[in-house]
Amino acid sequence: MPDLNLQLGLLRQYYESGATRSFAFRKKQLIAIKNGIIKFEKEIDEALFADLKKNREETYATETGLVLAEINVTVRNLYRWMRPTSAGTNLVNLPSSSKVYRDPLGVVLIISPWNYPLQLLLIPLVGAIAGGNCAVLKPSEFAPATEKIMQKIITHIFPPEYVLYITGNGAEVVPAMMKNFRFDHVFYTGSIPVGKIIYQMAAEKLAPVTLELGGKSPAIVLADANIKIAAKRIAFGKFINAGQTCIAPDYVLVHEKVKDEFIDKLKDSISRFYGTDASINYDYGKIINQKRFDTLVNYIGEGEVVTGGEYNRENLFIAPTVLKNIAPGATVMQQEIFGPILPVIAFHDMEEAMEIVQRNATPLAFYLFTTNTQEEKVWIDKIPFGGGCINNADWHFTNHNLPFGGVGNSGIGMYHGKYSFDTFTRLKAVMKTPNWFDPAIKYPPLKGKLKLFKWFIK
Ligand code: NAD
Repeated sequence: MPDLNLQLGLLRQYYESGATRSFAFRKKQLIAIKNGIIKFEKEIDEALFADLKKNREETYATETGLVLAEINVTVRNLYRWMRPTSAGTNLVNLPSSSKVYRDPLGVVLIISPWNYPLQLLLIPLVGAIAGGNCAVLKPSEFAPATEKIMQKIITHIFPPEYVLYITGNGAEVVPAMMKNFRFDHVFYTGSIPVGKIIYQMAAEKLAPVTLELGGKSPAIVLADANIKIAAKRIAFGKFINAGQTCIAPDYVLVHEKVKDEFIDKLKDSISRFYGTDASINYDYGKIINQKRFDTLVNYIGEGEVVTGGEYNRENLFIAPTVLKNIAPGATVMQQEIFGPILPVIAFHDMEEAMEIVQRNATPLAFYLFTTNTQEEKVWIDKIPFGGGCINNADWHFTNHNLPFGGVGNSGIGMYHGKYSFDTFTRLKAVMKTPNWFDPAIKYPPLKGKLKLFKWFIK
């Protein structure tokens, strides 16, 4: 492999040449990704099946389709987003005029995880390209088939001095880059512990970051909810991709009055979605690797199994599992589960539910099931969370009109659609002053002008 520092230097040079800045260039690159995805769709489908046992339909709905939609909305709006906007000018500066320009950031680093390995790398790339940047891509090494097909696509359509694709052990290659090169932005999606390492390395170079992290996202089911719908939508949001979704409902807090009904309906939904043996079901995925499998299996013993509980290490299968009567102090209620195990806990009143949510404060997502709009307002107001849904789960992620990101423990910054463009550009403020008006009052000597200043500057 050519010297990494040399390659990063070439990206810097390419960026500084100005080649990436024009609208026409950016649009062309975005369309190249779109065509690349369409051309290699079959291989992408095979890769995601190999890594996570995703079927073609799910791959389209949660990976390729999302990237294509992001490209479409970006291409449609990019020209408008790129245009400088006029800003007002305050009295003291009249008759100057003011504008806000959108500057690219420079050379950005995008690091992604294995759970949605295609879209979590390429959606940020769409934003980086739209912003007029050069990018270094570091996909997860734990989804190797997807890592390989994305490498094929990216190296096929982009020269390495524009988009550089780096593979290998993240704990080695990322520090090797970040310690020797100042990225103009680091966009990281992954776990909280690694997010902290990235943040520290970025701080050393004063590089800005976006951190898209995980955490424990609650689903709250109030007594007045439509229980059948709540159970169906929570089951779908939780067990898609075998629970390996950052925004999946991590656990359910259900009002004690409706707990039994909710659990019954949850069981019904799970068996309707995945049949009696999920291990052979077309719509049910697998655990990414044995390390994650072992962690997940340990959680199952921490509660009473309501449904599921079966597993097989050989084919990395863990059945959709619902737990109740969770042991006090159980790790399943302390760590992000990130797998197909769903603890269901009954609560008596809002204070009790809030207290449980606060134990893992500032979740990435929050889901509330209720038919009472007053309750809706109170909960949204009281709980800090990244984003979420009322009477739904996960789907807010797919709406590119909404900003996506975490808060506190679940991350820093936002992206998707226009918010990605904002993340990958910088506002540059410019005031233009005409030469025909240059009153002496602005210049020294200032003595005696205080009254006038007080009139002008307020
Ligand atoms: P991870 O943090 O282990 O790895 C993510 C990336 O970081 C990989 O590309 C990896 O190579 C790299 N990496 C690993 N160790 C590194 C180190 N020491 N220094 C620098 N880079 C390193 O995360 P993961 O296990 O792949 O993903 C799971 C986590 O990601 C979960 O917590 C999940 O909630 C979170 N996640 C968040 C979002 C979101 O949008 N907020 C989306 C998906 C996943």
